[in-house]
Amino acid sequence: MRALVLDDIRSTPVVRDVPTPVAPPGGVVVQVLATGLCRSDWHAWAGHDEIAFPHVPGHELAGVVSRVGEGVRRWQVGDRVTVPFVCGCGTCEWCLAGDAQVCPDQQQPGFTHWGSFAEQVALHAADANLVAIPDGVDFATAASLGCRFATAYRALAGRARIAAGEWVAVVGAGGVGLSAVMIARALGARPIAIDRNPAALELALRLGAEHAILADGRDIPAEVAAITGGGSHVAVDAVGSEQTASDAVLSLRRRGRHVQIGLLPPVDGHPRVPMSRVIAWELDLLGSHGMAAADYPGMLALIASGALQPQLLVERTVGLEEAAALLPGFDRSTVAGITMIDPRLSAAGGAAAGAR
Ligand SMILES: [Zn+2]
Ligand SMILES: [Zn+2]
Repeated sequence: MRALVLDDIRSTPVVRDVPTPVAPPGGVVVQVLATGLCRSDWHAWAGHDEIAFPHVPGHELAGVVSRVGEGVRRWQVGDRVTVPFVCGCGTCEWCLAGDAQVCPDQQQPGFTHWGSFAEQVALHAADANLVAIPDGVDFATAASLGCRFATAYRALAGRARIAAGEWVAVVGAGGVGLSAVMIARALGARPIAIDRNPAALELALRLGAEHAILADGRDIPAEVAAITGGGSHVAVDAVGSEQTASDAVLSLRRRGRHVQIGLLPPVDGHPRVPMSRVIAWELDLLGSHGMAAADYPGMLALIASGALQPQLLVERTVGLEEAAALLPGFDRSTVAGITMIDPRLSAAGGAAAGAR
């Protein structure tokens, strides 16, 4: 099969033929029909994760089951499926409590094993982790759920527990930030989008942001305080840097809740966080790490009803070769919206038969 391969840290990604994966016991192989290009893939390329090279990245995927491993009960060849980027073991106390996103024995396609920037991908503990894609939801929409959209949903609904009418300051209007804007609006909250890219802010306003603040060196917390009358109830760092985390925390009103979504890899050093403000204003600092398959039904119901439209986040679809060219510069790219990969698209950019 064709796959996007990383031969070493920061090597030029290449598309080449590799062995087709076999289904592990309890797992399946999925034919990949859509897979999102995410900042986490860039972290993998840059060597911020413990990864064995050569490696195939890709963790936001949807497709059709093509092989079924020994012992799988719930799935068969041909089923339309997606999967959270954190696949739990299915048997530990956290998995049994519905919190597979923090499973100590978790697998992550594209990190702990070869991922979905390929024609086929192996997935573990299929009965515990696979999610059926409802009729009427296409593969690109479903793929966008696995990491950024589901993470934003859980961050706001599950971790910050946002209420209607609350202000939600979202620092970073990339895939996860735009998802947070859309979800906050759908849940009746009042999102404010903050980004350095004017095009991303325009998209955020179309997706439901009440205000947009251009991060061009201005005092972000002061601007948020002026808009909200003293600070936001909830803030999200959807980028992952000392500056954006600090801006988010300092944008909160007293007793506000901060959710950290953007990755802050140890290789960059531990970020300084304004803890004096956290103490004096009794702020809550919350982490969010994806969403378990068990929590998908609530989100899928909102998508089926049309209240949430993650497909609006997908701005472009590319083939594996174009994705290989985009990956090394992804940390500084200024494209708005989510880039989706269809492994069936040829190097020349010609569209293969569409199953979307
Ligand atoms: Zn991702
Ligand atoms: Zn587990």
